[in-house]
Amino acid sequence: MERAKERQFGKLLMQWDKEKNRRSMPWKGEKDPYKIWLSEIILQQTRVEQGLDYYNRFVQQYPTIRHLASADDAAVFKLWEGLGYYSRCRNLIATARHVVNDLNGIFPASYESILTLKGIGPYTAAAITSFAYNLPYAAAAGNVMRVLTRYFGIRQSISSSAGKNFFTTLANRLLAANDPATFNQAIMDFGATVCKPQLPLCSGCNLQKHCTAFKEKLTDSLPVKEIKPAKKQRWFYYAVIEYKGAAYIHKRAQKDIWQNLHEFYLEERSSQTDPNELAAGIMQQLNAGKGSMVTTISKMYRQQLTHQAIHGCFIHIRLKKKIKIPGYELYEKSAIRKLAFPRFITGYFEDAASGFR
Ligand code: SF4
Repeated sequence: MERAKERQFGKLLMQWDKEKNRRSMPWKGEKDPYKIWLSEIILQQTRVEQGLDYYNRFVQQYPTIRHLASADDAAVFKLWEGLGYYSRCRNLIATARHVVNDLNGIFPASYESILTLKGIGPYTAAAITSFAYNLPYAAAAGNVMRVLTRYFGIRQSISSSAGKNFFTTLANRLLAANDPATFNQAIMDFGATVCKPQLPLCSGCNLQKHCTAFKEKLTDSLPVKEIKPAKKQRWFYYAVIEYKGAAYIHKRAQKDIWQNLHEFYLEERSSQTDPNELAAGIMQQLNAGKGSMVTTISKMYRQQLTHQAIHGCFIHIRLKKKIKIPGYELYEKSAIRKLAFPRFITGYFEDAASGFR
């Protein structure tokens, strides 16, 4: 790869940033490593538009790492509700407590020490190090790698670890050593607003003259797409078992999706099943008793996760007498609203027919 083209890239990018970059975000220019870390963790696998509100709510509720470290797990999970990938939330709490309890509340300041924190990989460590301390580490996010594949015409995959290493090395070579924070922000903004995944704005792009993808009509085929393995299909049938307005709930503890979130009584199946048959089976299994009845069966709900697709519905059962369900507790509706649930269940709550809105 010619050095001249590499030098040209940095020059044109910084010129674009100075003259045309109008992207504003609350954490842009932020120097507090806590807030930068927070924004980066929220934005992992989350669109900026969706992450913005969460970031603002977290900063308002927990303005410093000490506030976050001393918060109740349940309250943090409730604030995180809807963002998905809950291991991020678990790591957020663990890292905040580690920094406060073991590092005297001072966020580490070197790339190597930041990389040792739970939930922080090379990209996030580089972002925090460069934005907070202006140290020369390139943050090769997906946006950044996409720009590089196109501008330099590279067919290397951006999802393999070899590919990530390759693009991190390249981005580090391109990095403006005198202002890494501005360079990293500029290339991310450029990827998000100009060299977008679909329909990049090539006609007004000031990198166009030197861009290989543009010259060779490769913008649609770069970055190269990986063939994704088929998703695992799971069917979740939730029994919303209600007694005098309260419902039976438990916290998911097993190492599986939605760990630490709450749910109703669950019957999981590996294929689609008739909910009426299931409802009858559940009533019998729970020994629900005379006078108890199935009141409604909801429509089907779906939630797409990275490697799984969850389908299912909610079977509403009204009990005549109180029963014991091992592992489950009765919660009043006002208490249920304070618990954190997966998106699959909050979607059901939003439906007026659920009776939980
Ligand atoms: Fe991206 Fe198009 Fe600009 Fe090339 S010309 S860098 S593909 S926006």
